[in-house]
Formats: sequence, C-alpha cells, structure tokens
Amino acid sequence: MDSVAEKIDFLRKALHEHNHRYYILDKPTVTDFEFDRMLRVLQQLELDHPEYYDPNSPSQRVGGEVTKSFETIRHRFPMYSLSNTYSREELEQWEERIRKILGPEASIDYTCELKFDGVSVSLTYVDGALVQALTRGDGSQGDAITANVKTINTIPLKLNGDYPSFFEIRGEIILPWAGFNKMNEERAAKGEPLYMNPRNTASGSLKLQDSSIVAQRPLNCFLYALAGNELPVGSQFEALEKARSWGFKVPDSAQLVTSIDAVFEFIKFWDEKRKTLPFEIDGIVVKVNQFDQQQELGFTAKAPRWAMAYKYQAEQVATILKKVQYQVGRTGAITPVAQLDPVIISGTTVKRASLHNADQIEKLDLRIGDRVFVEKGGEIIPKITAVDESSRGKEQAKVFFITNCPECGSLLEREQGEAQHYCKNETECPPQKIGKIQHFIGRKAMDIEGLGGETVTLLYQEGLLNSIADLYHLEKDQILPLERMANKSVSNLMQGIESSKEKPFAKVLFGLGIRFVGETVAKKLCKKFKSIQVLKEASLEELVQTEDIGERIAESLVDYFADPNNQLLVKRLEDCGLQMSETETVLSGHKPFEGKRFVVSGVFDKLSREELKNDIETLGGIIVSSVSSKTDFLVAGEGMGPSKRAKAETLNVPIISEIEYQNLKASSD
Ligand code: AMP
Ligand code: ZN
Repeated sequence: MDSVAEKIDFLRKALHEHNHRYYILDKPTVTDFEFDRMLRVLQQLELDHPEYYDPNSPSQRVGGEVTKSFETIRHRFPMYSLSNTYSREELEQWEERIRKILGPEASIDYTCELKFDGVSVSLTYVDGALVQALTRGDGSQGDAITANVKTINTIPLKLNGDYPSFFEIRGEIILPWAGFNKMNEERAAKGEPLYMNPRNTASGSLKLQDSSIVAQRPLNCFLYALAGNELPVGSQFEALEKARSWGFKVPDSAQLVTSIDAVFEFIKFWDEKRKTLPFEIDGIVVKVNQFDQQQELGFTAKAPRWAMAYKYQAEQVATILKKVQYQVGRTGAITPVAQLDPVIISGTTVKRASLHNADQIEKLDLRIGDRVFVEKGGEIIPKITAVDESSRGKEQAKVFFITNCPECGSLLEREQGEAQHYCKNETECPPQKIGKIQHFIGRKAMDIEGLGGETVTLLYQEGLLNSIADLYHLEKDQILPLERMANKSVSNLMQGIESSKEKPFAKVLFGLGIRFVGETVAKKLCKKFKSIQVLKEASLEELVQTEDIGERIAESLVDYFADPNNQLLVKRLEDCGLQMSETETVLSGHKPFEGKRFVVSGVFDKLSREELKNDIETLGGIIVSSVSSKTDFLVAGEGMGPSKRAKAETLNVPIISEIEYQNLKASSD
C-alpha cells in the first residue's frame, strides 16, 4: 500500500467496519486502543491531505462542524404521526376496521415493534452514503441536522450490501438511561438544574450548534421504517431485516405475528420487560406487515391507517404523604420534597417525590396525611400527580410553603416570573457556602486533586473552611487529626491546592460560581476582558457587547462585583497567588515553542489530547503524527503506543509527561 489515497481509503473502510462491529453487532474485533490509533492516523493523513476530504469519513464522528441555523427542508415522503390508544378495546376495534377494508378473506400479519421514546429522524442515503438527516418537524418539512447526526455512532455513514442507490430510512434517536444519568450527575456536580427526561435531552442535543458537543452526548439511533419509490422489499418485517443487513441498528425486539391475539401477548410481554430496558419506551407499535395491504389501507390526514401505537400507562401508586422537606441548593434555590410512606414503583422503592415549587403544592392543595398518587414516568425523580379526594389529610394539616430558609433562617424571595423561591443569603447560608466550595474544586473548575465534596463538607463542619479563599490557608496540622485523614492523603490534598494556583484565569472565573457564568461564558469573558481587574470595572453596556453575553448574565456579573463580600473574596484570592488574568504568553503572542516539533500521544489527565495540541500550536509548536529524528518532544500520556516510545528512545527524542510539558511551558516564559 503506497499511495496516500490508498492508505486513506484502507483506513476509512477498516474503521467503518470496526464501527459497525462495535456499535451495531456488539462484537468488536479490535481493542479501543487500536481503533483510536487507526483513527488518529487517518485524522493526520486527512489533515495533511485535504484534497481527499470525504464528508462521510469515520473521522467525521468527532464533529466540529457548526450549524448556525438549521435549514428547513421539505420531506420527500411525509413523516406521519401514529394513531394511538391506551385501551385494548380500541385496538380490537382498529383490527375490525382494517378487516372490513381488506375483506374477510384477507390474511393479515402484523409487525410488532417497541415505541422508542426519543426524537424521530429521517435519513437520506445516496449510493450508500448518508447525505441528509431531517427532523420530523411538522411532518411535511423538517430541520436539517445532518452534521449533528453524523456524530451518532449507531448511524452508519457508509452502507454495505445490496442497498438501493437512493432511499430514506426513519428511526428514533434516543438517549439511554445510563448516558442520561451520567449527564445529570455532571450537572448536579456543577449545581446546575437537572435534565428532566431523556427525550427532551436528546431533542435539545440535536439542536446544538456545535457538533463536537453533540459527539460527546451518548445518543443512539434505532431504525424502523424504509421510505422510497422502489424498495427491494414487500413487507415491513423484510424491510427491517434488509436495513439490518445494510448496517443499520434495527432492534431485534421486532416480531412478526399472525394474529391480533399474538399482538396482545407482545404487549403484555413488554409491559413487564420494558422496565429492564436500558432506555425508555412509551408503548409498542403494531403495523400491518404486507406493503400491498398497507397501500390498500392508506392514510388519514395525519396517520397511516395500517399502524397503531399502544401506549403504556405510566405506573401510578398510591401512598401517604408524611411531610414536606425543603432542600437548599448551591444557588439558594429551594426545592420542596415530599416524604412518603415507602412504596414500590416499577421495581424500585420510592420514599420521596419532587414537588417542584410552591405553585405545585398550592395546585394539589396538599395536606399532611393525604393519600397521594405517585408516578414514575419519563422523569428520574418520581412526582405526585394527584391527591385521592376520598382520603384527605386533616384541614389543619394544609401544607404552606415555608417563608424562611430552613438552613439559615433568612426570608425567602421569589422573583417575578420565577417559579422558584430563593434564599438570598449567599454568603452565610451553609449549603450555599459548601456548595460554592464544592463547585470551585470541581473537575471543570479548579479540579483540585485529592479533595472531594465530602471532605469539603467535613472541613466546613470543623470550622476550617468558610469560603474558597480559606482553601489556600489550610495547614496540614489542622487537617491531620480529622477522621479518615492520613499523612499521604493530606499531602496530596495540600499538593492539589498548591498546584491549583496555576489554573488559568478562565477556570478561576468559572470556579467563583457567579450565577449564569458557566464554563463557556467564563472563557468568553476572559478572552475579552483579559483580567479580573478589567472585568470587575466593566459596565453593563460593555458586558452585553461581549459575544454570547446577554443582559441576564451581565446583570449577574455587575451584582456580583458590587457586593463588598465578593470584592473581598476576589482580593483574597489574588493575594493567594491565583491566576487572575490571561497568561502573558498568550496575550503578547509570545511563541516559546516556535518551530518546535511535537508528537502528542496517549491520554492525559488535565487536558484532552485536542486541548494539549491546541495549546502547543498557540505557543508556536508544530504537531506531527510520528516520531522522527526531527521531533523535538514526545509528550507521552497514558496508553501511548510502545513503538512510539521505543522509537523516541532510539532517536534520543526527549519523552515528557503532561506535567513536564507544563513546566517546560512555564520555564520558557
Ligand atoms: P406520536 O409522537 O405519539 O405521534 O408517535 C409517533 C412517533 O412515534 C413517530 O413519529 C416516531 O417518532 C415514534 N416511534 C417510535 N418508535 C416507533 C416505531 N417502532 N415505529 C414507528 N414510529 C415509532
Ligand atoms: Zn439560607
């Protein structure tokens, strides 16, 4: 294999194949490491040879393309919705109706499928390559989300086998529970409100502008319908099998049955089994199997007559409301939580349910002792849907939303138009103080090694930690006597705190936990204002002129810096030696690595490989893919290929770790 074109072609084919084996067949034949290695080689070749660009290369999975506004495009074949029912009788009536149309002699088979609760999508393939992805929209036209969809691993970019040269395929993009829960854990760690349910989160993800962020969301896609003029199949079930053979993820839960009784069995089976699925379904879909029969039945204005969705009732259980507790979040938001007599819903014991806010309590007219109905639907936290009117608690036990913070006693406030009550005592309210410190040390902020959320709580309770600035005045002797503290762990903690002083200004700014100032906003602010000195003096007008900074964020910033407590905090942090401005090197365009050649390999602790490469390039360095005698440094991360190391050693190329790289950078200032 000599020519670059051949190499690229070989790698693309191999990676498509491995992707298929891994994500569709669940039978990988190479390690993740090997896969990543091949992908990296391909990425480098593509970078060096842009003339071989292919929009469907496996390298496109990582995203990068930004969609400013999603173009609305007409569907070639309309995307219908489905008639649906919750009742067995209606399903039987539906069967009678279609029997009448098809005639008493007709033998009717049905395909039974799961009804995935996600976002429907229509994919267009031309000559076996994905060319377009549209949302359902209003059914006759949808939005082009192609760049985002290409990042979803279970959607093939290239097909195999005997596919028609042009066709469309419909399916559902879903977010499995595991991925959804993980995203929420990350939100919780940041003190941000949780995502409500997987479907909305999937749908929001697909409308993100930056496809590289979509690539990080663990989305999945199941395909369930072909559309086209000359499909090589005569029935729905065959269509599913064909699609599977071309490389699509077609769930094997689909079943071909020959009677409506068997449909009911399918429904019954999945009513239980769905609780163990790794993703959400909201029912099942029954489709008349034969295409000629489907054609005869046709469509109503909205939905096909040949299909019917049977939806499962969300499971509701009655229990007694024992009391209402109030939680105070990092931002001071108050969440009422119902304490219940424990009940089992969908296999898990439920003792608590969210009541969201004061309005919700008012609407339900809650009283302690009420018999309430609890439902665990698409949301992770169960909710109270209704009160059993025949079994009310005592009139005197009516629940009134608290007026004062349960933690610090200050009067709660509720801003106009907001549903939530807030404790505004930011600087003195314990959970807010602890939450702020936990946020500051978090992975996305200062990422202080050796210090976790629980230790923060402990240090707070021991009176050693009252604000983030106190972190930098902790003494080893104070911490050692505490429970579960050993010499080594304390040293790590002190070391972690010390090295956090080198964290860039953007991380510090994000770490302050100013309301509405997330990671991205913090970066934009740093870019524009360069230092905390300038930022804290900035006027509302100056702030709103910054990219992506709206009035809400600007006001929050002005408020923050106007507060004397915060001024003092910032001053203290400056005195501790934290980075309060963009580093000089970047500012002045100083290029300490000018012309130096770097090979970056493996996985790193602090930065992602891409971040590390960007960093090197900003400082004038050149990234090359393989080690040669011209290489100046090999930056080695975990899992770096042994051959790279061997080669660097023979050629006497310095091998440096991430930390050594940072030192090198610091020393070349
Ligand atoms: P509805 O949104 O309630 O009108 O239901 C129709 C939607 O169900 C379709 O637009 C699809 O997005 C979705 N759906 C999920 N699974 C299936 C399936 N197996 N067959 C057809 N549609 C499905
Ligand atoms: Zn409070």
